[in-house]
Amino acid sequence: MTTAPAIIILGPSALACARRIQALYPQAEIHGLRGRVEGVERVYEDFGDNLRALYRRNVPIIVLCAAGIVIRSLAGVLAEKGSEPPVLAVAEDGSAVVPLLGGLGGVNRLAREIAAQLQVSAAITTSGELRFGTCLLDPPPGYVLADLQQGKGFVSDLLGGQAVRIEGDAPWLTQAKLPVAEHAARVIHISPHSRAANADELLIHPQQVAVWIEQASADLLSELQQALHASGLASQSLACLLAAPALMANAGLHAAAAQLHLPLRFIDDAEQLPPLHSQHASLRLLLAAAPIDAAQLGRPRGRLTVIGLGPGAAEFMVPAARQALDEAQDLLGYETYINMAGPLRPEQVRHCSDNREEMQRARHAFALAASGRRVVLVSSGDPGVFAMAAAVLEALHASTDAEWQRVDLQVFPGVSAALATAAKAGAPLGHDFCMLSLSDNLKPWAIIEKRLEYAAAADLVMAFYNPISKARPWQLGRALDILRQQRSPQTVVVLGRDIGRPGETLRSLTLGELTPEQVDMRTLVIIGSSQTCRFPRTDGGEWVYTPRSYPQPQET
Ligand code: SAH
Repeated sequence: MTTAPAIIILGPSALACARRIQALYPQAEIHGLRGRVEGVERVYEDFGDNLRALYRRNVPIIVLCAAGIVIRSLAGVLAEKGSEPPVLAVAEDGSAVVPLLGGLGGVNRLAREIAAQLQVSAAITTSGELRFGTCLLDPPPGYVLADLQQGKGFVSDLLGGQAVRIEGDAPWLTQAKLPVAEHAARVIHISPHSRAANADELLIHPQQVAVWIEQASADLLSELQQALHASGLASQSLACLLAAPALMANAGLHAAAAQLHLPLRFIDDAEQLPPLHSQHASLRLLLAAAPIDAAQLGRPRGRLTVIGLGPGAAEFMVPAARQALDEAQDLLGYETYINMAGPLRPEQVRHCSDNREEMQRARHAFALAASGRRVVLVSSGDPGVFAMAAAVLEALHASTDAEWQRVDLQVFPGVSAALATAAKAGAPLGHDFCMLSLSDNLKPWAIIEKRLEYAAAADLVMAFYNPISKARPWQLGRALDILRQQRSPQTVVVLGRDIGRPGETLRSLTLGELTPEQVDMRTLVIIGSSQTCRFPRTDGGEWVYTPRSYPQPQET
């Protein structure tokens, strides 16, 4: 099972049991109904919608409630899919474990594991499995059934009384209760070699073959097919693609691995490689004696994802950022933001740092990612707006380290404070606007003054980040003086403080009324243009907006 299961509960009475199941699958998240369950990793609004979304995404589902509720919720989507994830109902007191769907996705195995943890027996109803103590059509990880249809007929034959013998190495079958007989006509054949389907045979391929890619040729996939064919190996026996770190950023190689659904690992040390089976133009087939666990070989390509959390509230974080957080092994950022990025799992490493150590943090992030880790660097708002993304690119640009260049670097956008504040207020950024940081830590104050003058003269709406701080007490007052030379005291101003966070406040006022004391470092200041206007909302407060068009010049 590659995807971690989702554990769904309806109320707090199921939480204790859910935690016991979670102990088996540390990556699993508990989903609780909003308003009913506190302190879980995920909250959902609608039980059925959440269940169906998980099912469509192939996430294994463990629901702690009546089986009937689960069945009714999923009934409508069952016909949509050929393959299905495991779905289990577990009694909320842990007294019953009922596998419902996903027989070929390992639901019975999951049910047995959970039942063992809860010290009950799983309600297994699959006849082959009951009789033989194993699901022959769903071999354990590292083994792949060659042909499902043929397999179904084979299991029926055994259920009908046929004896069987085992050819090859199938350690998991030693505990099974199969009708084994030395000269049986039916054979379970375990082999990495491909061979023609044989009606009397259940063919299972162990994933013993690794492909060492010498060169990422354009024809990699067809070359691989030819190599397998020439060697008589089955494509289902492939466990992973391997290459030297120099090929780590090769797009063709990653595309091939994705198409084959195989892990791609990088190896510095040839001694780690399984033995050579055959050599081909740009690749070698390596054949191990037993199934290969790719996670134990070399390292993956490291990943550095620079994300923005949005202003604060979880629902304003983009889903791609949430996913990156969920997949991260290491998180870096200012402590406040790392705390905002939760829920995190205990094994996720937090590297909290001071807000000012940005370059050091960027270099640390690259060093971790270059070692093969999945790293997320956290900013608030958008990472490209007065935040970490530019620091990361500066670090990369200045680096000659080939390992850094090979890191899978991505920047995911977030809702910046100006956008979050503007949306709260209405649409003050509805026409041309600019974003300025009033901090003179990284630029001379003279440049800020010039930009303020020009932006004011151009009648742009302005969003001020870092408007004031203890170390920069006078700058905002000076900025307002400059604005007042060109904008009337009636100019509309919006102050958003801690938007999307606890205690958020939003105010609209005029430039005439604005004083630096009303602003702190957690405030985003929007200065309207000559066109920005406001009107009362029926529920109190005001709407502020800047019309999309200017009044047309009068025709003469
Ligand atoms: N990358 C962030 C900005 C970082 S600069 C973003 O895109 O939003 C820090 C400044 O952003 C603060 O001084 C404040 O002016 C503003 N800010 C950040 N979060 C805010 C919030 N939730 N509410 C109001 N202003 C915020």
